[in-house]
Amino acid sequence: MMLCVLVFLANCKGDHSIASEEFTPSVPQNGKVEGTIFAKNGTKPIGGTLVFTIDQENRVYHTYSDSDGKFSLTAPEGNTTLHIQTGDGQNFRTEIPVTIKKNETFTVAAADSKLNQVAKMAYVKGSYDEIESIITRLGYTVTEITYQDLKNLNTIAQYDIIFLNCGSRNYTQTGTPTPGNDYNVYSNLSTFVSNGGSIYSSDWASAYLVGGNTNTEHCTAPGGFINDNLLCLKDTGTAGTYSNCSVSNASLATAIGFNALDIEYDMGAWEKIQNYDPAFWEVLVQKGNEPLMIRTGHYTNPSAPQTPVGTSLNNNHITICHHIPNDNNITITINQNAWNAHQTHGDTLGPCTGNSNNGNIYYTTFHNHATGNIGETAPILEYVILNL
Ligand SMILES: [Zn+2]
Repeated sequence: MMLCVLVFLANCKGDHSIASEEFTPSVPQNGKVEGTIFAKNGTKPIGGTLVFTIDQENRVYHTYSDSDGKFSLTAPEGNTTLHIQTGDGQNFRTEIPVTIKKNETFTVAAADSKLNQVAKMAYVKGSYDEIESIITRLGYTVTEITYQDLKNLNTIAQYDIIFLNCGSRNYTQTGTPTPGNDYNVYSNLSTFVSNGGSIYSSDWASAYLVGGNTNTEHCTAPGGFINDNLLCLKDTGTAGTYSNCSVSNASLATAIGFNALDIEYDMGAWEKIQNYDPAFWEVLVQKGNEPLMIRTGHYTNPSAPQTPVGTSLNNNHITICHHIPNDNNITITINQNAWNAHQTHGDTLGPCTGNSNNGNIYYTTFHNHATGNIGETAPILEYVILNL
């Protein structure tokens, strides 16, 4: 009996001393890491970029770059990886090794804080619209594919992102009298987005989304892969300046540094959005109640075949929704080896918003005129490229 009590006391004392020796000295102190995020060209600062580190317990410390590309992140000391991502991190991301020291500021060299392109991107050549020139100006690469290539699922499934320029559906370019009848183009684009591919289309390229030949002449134009009740357009816009348009999406406004702009529509017959389903589309730019730029992460076709799209499956990375207590959850793309650890604090697979396996669709009523007259919409178009 006496022996038992002695053993119990000794154990009790032993446990306490071990606890205080092991845990007290290892509490990490915070330091800072700061810098400026640039596009691959090394000169264009990128706003709205997610910058984060992950500690040993898989806690995420994050901030965003401001409209000048600058960021300052407070995080625990130690050797760690600085993650730089736009969108959900699948298409553009950079990982840099950094050493954070307590109460000190580490400045990332400008040459290291460039946003890298992971995605394979393609575009269909248009007229009066030239998104490829904005992409290459930022230092990224994009491959030209033809309208006819859209009829081949194997061809388009190589890419993560496809840019559909305005004017790419005119008869001489498509080599077909009525693109509205090209139902395999629509079903391929539907399969592409349902399996994770993302699309940007502008102005008359709405015909890829909701139907029409060269463009969408009315709500019930034949073709398209998005139901007419989700989006209706009509080519009744008139040339001129749309002044005092507002950037209604807070993340976009913060990234570009302004929330009002004039938009130059330098050609008539542009596609005006007649009505749309607000549960499906998010409005990013508008004039009064009229949407001028919309996006969705909600498109999926349950009967589309499942097929690998793009490069994101080949590099051991997964996109997850990381849960932060008492804060907004954030979408991050991480090495799949870290998934088990993140799962234990309630993270879920796929992005925090939208459906988990499909891509995004962005649409703008305005475009990039071939003569370069894009004015104040340039940073908005750059944001689209980096956040698809
Ligand atoms: Zn997590």
